[in-house]
Amino acid sequence: MKTYTGTDLLMGTVLSMKVESGDGDPWKTLYAMGQDLETRELSWRIEGSEVWRINAAAGDPEGLELSPEMEEILTRCLAVSEESGGAFDITLGALTQLWDLDRAALEMQEAGSGAESTEPVYTPPSDEEVRAALARCGYEKVRIEEHRIYLPEGMRIDLGAVGKGIFLGHAADALQEAPISGTISAGGSILTLGNKNRSEPSEPWNIGIVDPADPSQLAGAIPVPGGSFVSTSGDYERYVEADGVRYHHLLDPHTGYPVGVKRPVSGGAEINYAVTIVCTDGLLSDALSTACFVIANDPERGPQQARELAERFGAQMYLVGADGIL
Ligand code: AMP
Ligand code: MG
Repeated sequence: MKTYTGTDLLMGTVLSMKVESGDGDPWKTLYAMGQDLETRELSWRIEGSEVWRINAAAGDPEGLELSPEMEEILTRCLAVSEESGGAFDITLGALTQLWDLDRAALEMQEAGSGAESTEPVYTPPSDEEVRAALARCGYEKVRIEEHRIYLPEGMRIDLGAVGKGIFLGHAADALQEAPISGTISAGGSILTLGNKNRSEPSEPWNIGIVDPADPSQLAGAIPVPGGSFVSTSGDYERYVEADGVRYHHLLDPHTGYPVGVKRPVSGGAEINYAVTIVCTDGLLSDALSTACFVIANDPERGPQQARELAERFGAQMYLVGADGIL
């Protein structure tokens, strides 16, 4: 067994791997697989990808034929939307493009790391603009029939909440037979492979959980067996601050604003928890982390409803807040 590591950018985030393998270095294959998945299927930004083509066909009465894999991804995502009462919604593309928080957060980061930081100013969209974009969203308006998808005019699919989980699912399948153990992480999602300790096969992996109040620190660690997918969603992952409000990348599909931000400027974000999901399916762990984050931080729904959702899908949920990991 030899130790192999790798780290590079993928899907707008960091992919990293640390494994012990008796079968050579899997990094190149893994990374190429991720790039292929992003370019051919998942990215709404990359011209010609399947999601890009689906979005380009929005409003077309003929719809668009789906690949079997995309049909499965979308169907499973829509089921999570239903079960979560719309807290999770892959049709928020018009809103995510309006808020443009991925790009804004990156710009801030780059400006902040420069010698003389001249912070670019982030201007949140107006109430009017949010309302108009919100009208172009809504999973209940998507129709999938006879392997074809029909989106209403103006709707845009955004699989940003599940891309990393889908990729890790592929990674797990590809490495299933290999003599390998270790972890692979993509953004806030982690896959554990094999046994942590060969002489003690039941010893779990300990996955560090970031403290949302100070992301440079860990709030603790959770034990998970090999073959698990661990996905975290938190408001510290991607955000910009303007006028004392943290505009983060997790949107409440009912308001069109980042969760906890009721209105620009006057409503400060009240986020009590980051959420970590553990389960045996990549897509599901990622979808549920986003869904449970929205529900747990919604004052009208709260942690108990988030936990019930996770349990309905056979997943475990951890809340990470001021009281540590619950
Ligand atoms: P994650 O970090 O996995 O929780 O996913 C966050 C990404 O999912 C965002 O950058 C958006 O592209 C997208 N997104 C934001 N809010 C939602 C939501 N409520 N449901 C589904 N996708 C969302
Ligand atoms: Mg997610």
